[in-house]
Amino acid sequence: MTQTTNYPVPESFKDSWMSEEKYQELYRYSLENPEAFWGSKAERYLDWYRPWDSVYEGDFKKCEVSWFKGGKLNASFNCIDRHLENRADQVAIIWEGDTPDLQRKITYQEIHDEVCKLANGLKAQGVNKGDRVCIYMPMVPEAVYAMLACARIGAVHSVVFGGFSPHSLRDRILDCGCRAVITADEGVRGGKHIPLKQNTDEALKECPDVTTVVVYERTGAEIEWREGRDISYKALTTSQSSICEPEVMESEDPLFILYTSGSTGKPKGVLHSTAGYLLYTTVTFHYVFDYHEGDIYWCGADVGWITGHSYIVYGPLSNGATMVMHEGVPFWPDAARIWEIVDRHQVNILYTAPTAIRALMAKGDEYVKRTSRASLKILGTVGEPINPEAWQWYYRSVGEERCPIIDSWWQTETGGMMITPLPGATALKPGFATLPFLGIRPAILDHDGNEIVGPGQGSLVITGSWPSQIRTVYGNHQRIVDTYFSQHPGYYFTGDGARRDENGYYQITGRMDDVINVAGHRLGTAEIESALVLHEAIAEAAVVGVPHRVKGESVYAFITPMDGVEITDDLKQELSNLVASEIGSFARPEILHPCPALPKTRSGKIMRRILRKLAQGERDNLGDLSTLADPTVIKHLLDQA
Ligand code: ATP
Ligand code: MG
Repeated sequence: MTQTTNYPVPESFKDSWMSEEKYQELYRYSLENPEAFWGSKAERYLDWYRPWDSVYEGDFKKCEVSWFKGGKLNASFNCIDRHLENRADQVAIIWEGDTPDLQRKITYQEIHDEVCKLANGLKAQGVNKGDRVCIYMPMVPEAVYAMLACARIGAVHSVVFGGFSPHSLRDRILDCGCRAVITADEGVRGGKHIPLKQNTDEALKECPDVTTVVVYERTGAEIEWREGRDISYKALTTSQSSICEPEVMESEDPLFILYTSGSTGKPKGVLHSTAGYLLYTTVTFHYVFDYHEGDIYWCGADVGWITGHSYIVYGPLSNGATMVMHEGVPFWPDAARIWEIVDRHQVNILYTAPTAIRALMAKGDEYVKRTSRASLKILGTVGEPINPEAWQWYYRSVGEERCPIIDSWWQTETGGMMITPLPGATALKPGFATLPFLGIRPAILDHDGNEIVGPGQGSLVITGSWPSQIRTVYGNHQRIVDTYFSQHPGYYFTGDGARRDENGYYQITGRMDDVINVAGHRLGTAEIESALVLHEAIAEAAVVGVPHRVKGESVYAFITPMDGVEITDDLKQELSNLVASEIGSFARPEILHPCPALPKTRSGKIMRRILRKLAQGERDNLGDLSTLADPTVIKHLLDQA
């Protein structure tokens, strides 16, 4: 079975400053001396106006923690100003528009000036420290400026992904009481225009407290204008000074609020604080991507997700990195676009999601082989379990067995990567996120909530605080205690299941809610899905459990074929046999349900909670659908049923 194969650290990383021994030694030290460890990182990686009085204090059980108490700093200063002495003219953002003819290069000096102008403009509109500002923008550099301008003046940003509907936008604006919105006339993705301003107008009909709407002109489309409330980005910024003193913030002052993807239910407004979050994203970016001066880095996420916050904005910029920012989608104008961008900008580090990898794999190798990709050194993935099949494809076809696959597990709530390989230190195992990052102590609990020692499978929890842990669910601290700190007192409950092997490597088996219990066997959805997509005819699979008279639960699998493949009874039999040989006969799907596409969140994750209901024959009460990317997928599934 492919899962058991280990891949040693690639030759090119053998001399890395972070070796396996070094990792083990540092990891041990970080757990034994967390305050000394994080204190020294805080000194080395961040610039402070005032040092902290204590590294960590608080009550983890109640989620009342504080890191670097007494310290003062500003996140925008750390991401911009401190680089100006040495790298004012270094490119910070290489922007590639929806079509390849649109290119921009922005230096650190330019970011500085633009952020200051916008920050001054926001102040002139009466936006103050502590105010919440909603950012509903396409993937343009101005979205980054908007986030950093908020951070500069101490306003709390709440970025809402530009693919969300007016309804979802309204809910998020109301939930955290935003008083200003920064948006654009339109967004452009894959040739389609998204009416962001029109959506904003629609949302704001029910948001009386929003008094300012800043509109960035992306396409110049005609839009409605509300005098007294709307102001163009240009008008707001052109006459402003390009100097804006950063607000001196306390370590625990909130930096932003971000709503989770909504894969499992109603999104939660996760609040992160300034110092701990910035430190953890800065350090993880440096270590996990083995970032060196001059490397070109590209994270394919949207700034509307935590991956975009931590690893497009704060982590890379705080490290003074150069990065690519892509406005569009991986398939536009065709499925070679990602690899063409890699070649054009000589990208060394690429970070994307399994949903994109699986979709690109389904298109075949031809698009990949058209390009060189010789610049690539590291390939990362995040967001869902990556099936060993997709892992292998990424490793072999894309990276040509030269680039380590960084399968990083983390969550909106954790702020940064928690379980992840380090390029120079970790031998790889397909489907495994491998080992915890420095200072992170994961554990696996059994049904009774006892810690499993050694190899085993159960609930993934984290023991003890780390700098970028969630501070609260905005406006509802009880919800955070109930959701994350109550199931297993003393632990942070991740909601995910995991397996640990004999080497201490972690594999994420899927959401705990999705664990299927077939005749006493507890199965993670991810492993059955991985077995199904091993078959060359299957592009993607989603598995749910349905009640079964005898077995307790049985396996119901939705399957999406590769382009041009038809699902026949023979093929179904082959798939069933494949699951039996990979996992065991008990895991054979009771039903294999072909469908052209799976319902996904707007961040690209499979929504099993909807599929579970469909599999049980429910049609009406499908739960919160606001985070669903493409409603026609559900319509199709309902029509079939
Ligand atoms: P919600 O909490 O609203 O249901 P969500 O959990 O999808 O949404 P995020 O915080 O964006 O929102 O996603 C975190 C989740 O993504 C993790 O809990 C895990 O289930 C999954 N995940 C992230 N990275 C990985 C990975 N490398 N391997 C497996 N699963 C991953
Ligand atoms: Mg979650």
